[in-house]
This record gives sequence, structure tokens and C-alpha cells, in this order.
Amino acid sequence: MDSVSTPDSPNSDNNAAMSPTSGSAPSSSMVGSSSSSSAPSPSRYESQKRRDWNTFGQYLKNHRPPLSLSRCSGAHVLEFLRYLDQFGKTKVHTQMCPFFGHPNPPAPCPCPLRQAWGSLDALIGRLRAAYEENGGKPEANPFGARAVRLYLREVRELQAKARGISYEKKKRKRPPPQQLQQQTPPPAPPANPSG
Ligand SMILES: [Zn+2]
Repeated sequence: MDSVSTPDSPNSDNNAAMSPTSGSAPSSSMVGSSSSSSAPSPSRYESQKRRDWNTFGQYLKNHRPPLSLSRCSGAHVLEFLRYLDQFGKTKVHTQMCPFFGHPNPPAPCPCPLRQAWGSLDALIGRLRAAYEENGGKPEANPFGARAVRLYLREVRELQAKARGISYEKKKRKRPPPQQLQQQTPPPAPPANPSG
């Protein structure tokens, strides 16, 4: 029995396992670092929450002096919200403005643009959830701080006054539009003088 080992045989099948089949389709396991959490299709809320969390992380990173999440307080959250105001798109009239209290001003004015209360309120809700999902303790959650709640309430009232709208919990039912059923009266016969 002489085992003939052919070093370079043209058809050595047992080499096939070694050769890297540089496939065209990358295996899905390479893409992304999917955690063990079972999220088949992240909802819009979830992706928005992740984006907000990253934004806040960036804010902390760029903070002077440097600020770590564990040392973040409600005061820092307020700082963050005020920082976001520069990207706001909601006109908030000052009391000096002639359009103060007008929901639809007829002309431009130099009043500042701010983040709408509704956006801030939703943002804080998402960040509050994200904080705890990322290991933060509920009792230390800066997004649930009293100062943040008070600030949001203040913003809501200010914007409601400035724009002349009231934020209600429930949308009031609008009365149905009145149907214009004006019956045009038949043309009166010309008054012809009897003669
Ligand atoms: Zn104004």
C-alpha cells in the first residue's frame, strides 16, 4: 500500500473547503451588529428614538466642559432643549410683536423660531425611554426631572399664548359645515304697467 500523494493534482476535491468562495452576495451576518433583542422591523418610533439618543450623545460629547451621561442632570437636559431651539421652525411671537396671539400672521416679523412644544414633548418622551433602555436608572433619569416637566409646561403655555391657540387634550369636534342650500328664487316677472 503506497499512498501516492500528488501535491498538485488538478482535481483535488478536498481542497474545495479551503478555497474561499468569494461570493457575490455578502452574508447577512456581516451586516450590522444586531443585538439579541428581537426587533424584526423597527418602527418609526424606535428609529427616531435611536436617532434622538445619538443626537444627545453627540451633544454630550461636544459639551464644554465634557459631560458624561451619568453626571447629566435635568439642568443639562434644559440646556440641550435650548440648544435645539436654533434649529426650530416654529415662530413664537414676543409680547411686543403686533402678531402676538395670531395663529396666522399676515406678514413676516423678526420674532425668533423655536422648537414647537409638541416636538420637544415627544423628544423628551423618547429620550426618557432610551435612557432607561441604555441602562440608566429610572430614579436618576434626567429626562424625567421635575425641572424638565416644568420647562415643557412653560413652553406650552408661552407658545399657546404667542400663537393664539390652545393645546387641548382632546380635539374638539368641529361642527359640521353648514350647507349652503340657498334656493334662488325664480325671477320675478317684470312688473309691466298694465295699460
Ligand atoms: Zn412676531
